[in-house]
Amino acid sequence: MILFKTTGPLQKQLEKLRTNGKRIGFVPTMGALHSGHLSLIECCKRRCDIAVCSIFVNPTQFNNKEDFEKYPVTIENDIFLLESNNTDILFLPAVNEVYTTGMQQLQHFELGYLENILEGKYRPGHFQGVCNVVYRLLNIVKPDVLFLGRKDYQQYLVLKKMMKEFFPDIKIEPVDIVREANGLAMSSRNMRLSEDARNKATAIYQSLQFIQQNIYNKDIEALKAEATNNLLDNGFEKVDYIKICDAGTLLPVTSVSNDKKQLITLAAAFIENVRLIDNILL
Ligand code: AMP
Repeated sequence: MILFKTTGPLQKQLEKLRTNGKRIGFVPTMGALHSGHLSLIECCKRRCDIAVCSIFVNPTQFNNKEDFEKYPVTIENDIFLLESNNTDILFLPAVNEVYTTGMQQLQHFELGYLENILEGKYRPGHFQGVCNVVYRLLNIVKPDVLFLGRKDYQQYLVLKKMMKEFFPDIKIEPVDIVREANGLAMSSRNMRLSEDARNKATAIYQSLQFIQQNIYNKDIEALKAEATNNLLDNGFEKVDYIKICDAGTLLPVTSVSNDKKQLITLAAAFIENVRLIDNILL
């Protein structure tokens, strides 16, 4: 694995690979890597010749200063995991390498209602920050394929929208959620939980599974209310949302019809002051 901290040498290396006909895949991350990230790398290696991973904790996507400051950093372990999983290139830029003219004047992306619902409603500005960083990283790496986890489902749809306009030639590959044995979706933020909370946090997956199992035999409002109560009864302090939506648009559905629309149920809730998200395609 070759590690680059600056853009110039990285681009030179990528240009060489491209000239040799190599197909380049890209996995952007914020580090504190776990098996969820590694499944993206694995998928990338299967589909492309070269796997490029970036680790960059993007300041502009955190609407909460404390969340940014407490974001786990485990860089030595990350490098070990990436090397052991056949990553070819790691890009580890400093802030001024990505935001070359500073973070004051960010580009504005037209995301429509997608940036104001669900995560966008509770994390104002979050998706503008996500688009800014991915836009910049894609301009640096210029990959053939971008790999994104379905764990951040709304982020996947937002980036799809941004890329349709600015990077129509880059293919997007969504990758399924990787979970702990107990069902908890893997997340770098899980590191901030006590062992007790990590066990209790499986309630978020169980609540979504409850919705999945009962979607055809219970009223949607009743389902959401039961799932919310289940979270609160099992150690979650606050529930931002539990929703059932059209998976293509993320607009809420009020009843389940037989029109074969792909649905998704999504949740965001706090346990031990850590905000967790999860979803299941129904
Ligand atoms: P992050 O480091 O949290 O920004 O995540 C980097 C990428 O890994 C994003 O595309 C995430 O959706 C994806 N990812 C994070 N956790 C998981 C998981 N448990 N399963 C699959 N993909 C994940």
